[in-house]
Amino acid sequence: MALPEKIHLEIVTPEKQLFSGDVDSLTVPSAGGYMGILPGHAPLLAELGIGEISYTAGGHTEYMFCSWGFLEVLPGRVVILAQAAELASDIDIKRAEEAKVRAEKMLTSGDPGVDYAAAQLSLIRAISRIEAHRRKKV
Ligand code: ATP
Repeated sequence: MALPEKIHLEIVTPEKQLFSGDVDSLTVPSAGGYMGILPGHAPLLAELGIGEISYTAGGHTEYMFCSWGFLEVLPGRVVILAQAAELASDIDIKRAEEAKVRAEKMLTSGDPGVDYAAAQLSLIRAISRIEAHRRKKV
């Protein structure tokens, strides 16, 4: 059987569909690290981590932030169900910078009541959003 030449990619969050279309390749932050996916990839199910999804279609690359969820890979189709995801151009940079300062304050407060694991994840989300925002087209 011939390998597919494109990947039909769907990216959805509980709030909306962020993308639906054919792409040439994508990279995804799985919980175990970044994965590159080309058409014809072996089927798999994986956990989505915190980071940046990027996909290339017609020589153009689009970037977005994502945080937790699942991805299903089939040879000609990838479905990403993200708990939260935002296109680079939709990221509220002020909110991300405030979230970063808040998380840093919690982590350095020395307060025994602080949930350090939650604060660390919040810091990683904020830094990833700030990085994804830099990809925004001007
Ligand atoms: P904050 O501390 O600013 O609330 P968070 O990391 O706790 O950030 P999430 O739980 O990841 O936020 O996301 C909650 C909702 O808010 C999601 O719909 C997400 O897309 C949206 N969101 C969070 N931060 C931003 C941001 N900087 N820009 C745009 N949307 C955001």
